Amino acid sequence: MTTHQEFHRRSVDEPEAFWAEQAQAIHWHVAPRQILDYANPPFRRWFVGGQTNLCYNAVDRHLAARGDQLALVAISSETGVTREVSYRELHAEVNAFAAVLRSLDVGRGDRVVIYMPNMAEAVFAMLACARIGAVHSVVFGGFAAHNLALRIDDATPKLLVCADAGMRGGKVIAYKPLVDAACAEAASPPPRVLVVSRGLDPDAAMTPGRDVAYAPLRARFDGAQVDVEWLESNEPSYLLYTSGTTGKPKGVQRDVGGYAVAMALSMWSIYDVRAGQVMFSTSDVGWAVGHSYNVYGPLIAGATSILYEGLPTNPDPAVWWGICERYGVRTMFSSPTGIRVLKKQDPSWLRKHDLSALKWLFLAGEPLDEPTAQWVTEGLGKTVIDNYWQTETGWPVLALMPGLDLQPVKFGSPGLPMPGYNLRVIDDQTGADVAPGEKGVLVIQPPLPPGCMTTIWNDDARFVASYFSHFNELLYSSLDWAIRDADGYTYILGRTDDVINVAGHRLGTREIEESCSTYASVAEAAVVGVHDELKGQVPVVFATLKQGGTGETSGEAAARIQQRVVEQLGAVARPARVYVVNALPKTRSGKLLRRSIQALAEDRDPGDLSTLDDPGALDEVRRALGRGADAGG
Ligand code: ATP
Ligand code: MG
Repeated sequence: MTTHQEFHRRSVDEPEAFWAEQAQAIHWHVAPRQILDYANPPFRRWFVGGQTNLCYNAVDRHLAARGDQLALVAISSETGVTREVSYRELHAEVNAFAAVLRSLDVGRGDRVVIYMPNMAEAVFAMLACARIGAVHSVVFGGFAAHNLALRIDDATPKLLVCADAGMRGGKVIAYKPLVDAACAEAASPPPRVLVVSRGLDPDAAMTPGRDVAYAPLRARFDGAQVDVEWLESNEPSYLLYTSGTTGKPKGVQRDVGGYAVAMALSMWSIYDVRAGQVMFSTSDVGWAVGHSYNVYGPLIAGATSILYEGLPTNPDPAVWWGICERYGVRTMFSSPTGIRVLKKQDPSWLRKHDLSALKWLFLAGEPLDEPTAQWVTEGLGKTVIDNYWQTETGWPVLALMPGLDLQPVKFGSPGLPMPGYNLRVIDDQTGADVAPGEKGVLVIQPPLPPGCMTTIWNDDARFVASYFSHFNELLYSSLDWAIRDADGYTYILGRTDDVINVAGHRLGTREIEESCSTYASVAEAAVVGVHDELKGQVPVVFATLKQGGTGETSGEAAARIQQRVVEQLGAVARPARVYVVNALPKTRSGKLLRRSIQALAEDRDPGDLSTLDDPGALDEVRRALGRGADAGG
């Protein structure tokens, strides 16, 4: 058996041989004539001259062997509708959708913005674009009109596909007025808007000449067959904007062949899902996880993908586990934020269903603190695997590979380097590799492996400046701090712009947050550095407490949190203030908006709030600061 370490070593020592082998997992209309072209660093091209198609690999390829198998199950606890779609039905839906796109004059290389919630048609639309070589750009349905307008102007789409409405917590959120506002704001609005109605907003106004309803077109093109457009491996497949946690989102551009190969490899080796098995990712299609592990990964693998629209607690906090039982889910993929929502509830909800088919729970998107990892591992009695990646990389950089050779889980670490990632941890000042156990910046020695971004859409210069210009050597900076231990396990300490400098000591916000969350009544903690005359910066904590806690007052909890940090990290990390709040400001993708919290704590403008999820959470922070509740000391 190949060990994890051997597999990885070969992938970085002999990348061309390694990836040539992996490339055999997908269908090529024309085989690549060159595996890697790295003549123009940091740009690289994988599988040069190869011709393939993502839709063909995700759909057509499986028709013969598994036409009646479920390809997609779209479950909405908001509308109460579950839609089960076999590979044969998926093929029919995607062909009809592709015919509709063609009828609206969309062709190879044209951009299509998709603004829809987690519903089956969002997947049909993505695959239909892939089929005809159009470049989709899915914009998370929770984004407001302004965010949508910014992305429209960057992608300059020929068509926008939207739903009439989404739903959240039982409330209908009409999308069409948001689309209208975005089109009004955008400098280059799409000439056509295709509206897929679920009947949630029957009064949605249609602009004559621009807007078209999907249903009549779908009926007109029922039974249509649309030829697959064979694309050169390096043509763009889709654009996806980063979450915007740290600033203006970047239009990550993905290729065709490299992405398909990376998806195929990651599905069996990392997620341990093969043809005929079932994967359930709770992500939204608008995020990187949704693209890779709700749509392309599972379908390229011939697996069944479950798409879920709704809250993790509706109709009850066992809803996800009920889905696992019903469909025999083997691998579940969610986020630490999702689990922390459940952690506020009684752990007995984790045991309400028969989870005998479930093998793995993967979590990604932000740091997985040890207490949360422990809580869910014990509660489910399953192996929980943290995995670290970025929208830019499209698939995990750090994880474990239970499908190949499962190395031990170490809580607090997303594990070991994934195939093709030649990772280093280097000193941010000198650029030298740091010793095991020392902190540095996590970098990828280029060329980036297949699946990773090829550039920033329309902005090669920004691609180089954002990621490859931080050191004397040409290295991809992850912009995240990390420590690697003697066994090669890597720990992520937070973003390079999330560092607190206390009297010359550099502390990662993550370390202090981790320490706070070991205090039993803490549900979640955010730590920011706040300007201090004497010390330069001091750590300030904002924490939410678990429901039905211990009955201690906020002041008592704050004091104990402060004490906990001093015990664990020393007096230098002592939080100057600890505020207990009811909610923490996060992005729509569930990441803490530390830069806005910090700005408020320093009495500055909170900055760009376009990705903020719940404005009420920001008010909570303001209220807490105004109240001046602090732990003293
Ligand atoms: P932007 O780049 O626009 O500021 P973003 O970085 O939040 O937004 P994503 O690409 O969605 O956008 O997030 C990737 C980042 O999320 C990583 O760089 C890292 O900071 C964090 N992250 C993801 N997974 C993990 C993990 N398992 N452990 C720790 N951090 C993680
Ligand atoms: Mg980022």
